Amino acid sequence: MHIPFCARKCAYCDFLSFPGSRQMQREYTEKLIEEIKCQSAKVKEYQVISVFIGGGTPSILSIEDMTAVLQALANGFEMLPDAEITMEVNPGTVTAESLSCYKEAGINRISMGLQSADDKELRYLGRIHTYDEFLKSYQRVRMAGFDNVNVDLISAIPGQTLESWKNTLKKVTMLKPEHISAYSLIVEQGTPYFDRYGEYVETKNSSLTQEERQRLNSLPDLPDEDAEREMYYLTREFLKEQGYERYEISNYSKKGYECRHNIGYWTGTEYLGLGLGSSSYINGCRFHNTPVYNEYCSAHLDREEAFQGVLRQEFERLTLEERMEEYMFLGLRLTKGVSAHGFASSFGHNIRNVYGMVLDAMEEEGLMEYIDGYYRLTSRGIDISNYVMSQFLT
Ligand code: SF4
Repeated sequence: MHIPFCARKCAYCDFLSFPGSRQMQREYTEKLIEEIKCQSAKVKEYQVISVFIGGGTPSILSIEDMTAVLQALANGFEMLPDAEITMEVNPGTVTAESLSCYKEAGINRISMGLQSADDKELRYLGRIHTYDEFLKSYQRVRMAGFDNVNVDLISAIPGQTLESWKNTLKKVTMLKPEHISAYSLIVEQGTPYFDRYGEYVETKNSSLTQEERQRLNSLPDLPDEDAEREMYYLTREFLKEQGYERYEISNYSKKGYECRHNIGYWTGTEYLGLGLGSSSYINGCRFHNTPVYNEYCSAHLDREEAFQGVLRQEFERLTLEERMEEYMFLGLRLTKGVSAHGFASSFGHNIRNVYGMVLDAMEEEGLMEYIDGYYRLTSRGIDISNYVMSQFLT
């Protein structure tokens, strides 16, 4: 479920997010509740095993608005008693009161966007908070009784060194969150960062003010590719020493705290997106909601035509071949890899009959291995995972 509002746009962010007044947030909440009612009526036969409320910054909504949304979810869908229900929060946007309301309403996992424990790096990223503010929010989350917490980190930030990254990892692991996501920074087109670091001059973002441009130009360079790889290896080794198991290329957890929701994406589980621009994958079909705010908020979703037009955009039925390809390249993100048995029961074909040649070639190159019924990437395969995954695409 997507809540698109943020206090301010971070300089590297290409998510569908923007600042919004209380009035806009109210308007959006009402529409989201309307959507929950309409969508849930169409998937009555499903049971929900996980919910992920992301954004944007979901915790920016008022307590009343968020409580109303959570109530609508609980009324609309059949949740399994042990469903994992995650909410993303940003430091500085939660209070003891809001957190206890979230807990009361059934949220049982909190995902916090920290990114770095270095205030200078946080400023370079355009984040609204300092490390101290994160610490206060983290303590509030724990005080409210949440015992399943993720912290999001980003490596390869402008000016970051191996030492400062290690310092971030040290500080965060001392807090003992159950889960850590650590992605390398990607400079996305259309972001202010692309204006500073992107390669293609003609697509640069021209909407920046002079002041913003000056600020960006004063940022230090990005760490080079070798430094980025070193940071990745350091993350893997350091987090292992601290008792975190890497279960996906960029995700680490204490035993039993792997994110069920994300594992669902990587193993071909169906999902329903709710809210502006959210994507769905149901019954072999992919579609998404409109990303246009006014179109979403003004639609009469109870009318079938508006429902189909606004919430079923780019409706596409995947072919068997496309579904098998996705199963492979998403499943290979997981450390344990792709299950040969799972492949056969999902598609009715033996994995070797479909991908035998590619699997053999990847094994010969030392990029993949077969262990206990699973095909997985070797460490060298992880280093060039995009290349390996692309071998499964036609
Ligand atoms: S808080 Fe997250 S979603 Fe919001 S602007 Fe920053 S990176 Fe984007």
